Amino acid sequence: KSFEQFNLKPEIMQGIADLYYKQPTPIQEQAIPLALEGKDVLGQAQTGTGKTAAFVIPILQKLDPNTSDVQALVMTPTRELAIQITDDIAELGKHLNVQVLSLHGGQDIMRQISKLSGRIQIVVGTPGRILDHLRRETLHFGRIHTMVLDEADKMLEMGFVQEVEEVFIQTAQKKQVLLFSATVPDGVRKLSHNFMNQPQIVKV
Ligand code: AMP
Repeated sequence: KSFEQFNLKPEIMQGIADLYYKQPTPIQEQAIPLALEGKDVLGQAQTGTGKTAAFVIPILQKLDPNTSDVQALVMTPTRELAIQITDDIAELGKHLNVQVLSLHGGQDIMRQISKLSGRIQIVVGTPGRILDHLRRETLHFGRIHTMVLDEADKMLEMGFVQEVEEVFIQTAQKKQVLLFSATVPDGVRKLSHNFMNQPQIVKV
C-alpha cells in the first residue's frame, strides 16, 4: 500500500516524500479515504500512530489555495501539540505554500490579532485561546470546511468541554468533523453524537 492510492495533489505527494514517509500507517490507511470522501471520522488512535498526518493530509487536499479565508480549524489540548501540528502542516503543505497560524495561551494576544488580519488558511489552537478570539471577533469560522478535534479525551479531561462546545456552535453548520482520541469515554461519545454527522469509526 502506498500514498499513491489516495490521488493526492502532487504538491502533497512531494511534501510526503520530503518527510521520507514511505507508506501510510494503519490509521492513515483507514481514515484518509473516508475523510477525502467528506465523511465525519472518529479515529481512535494513540500518539505515535501517525494520526496527525491522517487529518492534515485531507485538510491539505481540500484546501483552496485561492481563498484566504480560514478553511480549517484544528483544536488540540496543549500548546506543545499546537506547535507540533502547526509544524507538521507547514512541512506537509510546504509545496502548497499554505498559511497556517498557531493560537495558544502564553503568546501575546495582540500579536496574534495582528497576524490574523493577514492571509490565514488553517488555524491550530487550544480551546481557550480560540474561544477568546471568537469572542473578540478577531477570528471568524463562518467559512471553515473542516474542524478537527485532536486528543479529544485529553481536552475533556482538562475541562475544556464548554469551550469545545461553544466553538462547535460558532463554526459553519456545514463542515466536516474529524475527531481523534486515544480513548472514547462518555464525554467524547456525547460530543460525537451532538456535533458529528454519522461518524465513521476507525480504530488502530
Ligand atoms: P503522530 O502520531 O501524528 O504524533 O506521528 C508520530 C510520528 O510518526 C511523527 O514523527 C510523524 O512524522 C511520523 N509519521 C507519520 N506518518 C508517517 C508515515 N506514513 N511514515 C513514517 N512516519 C510517519
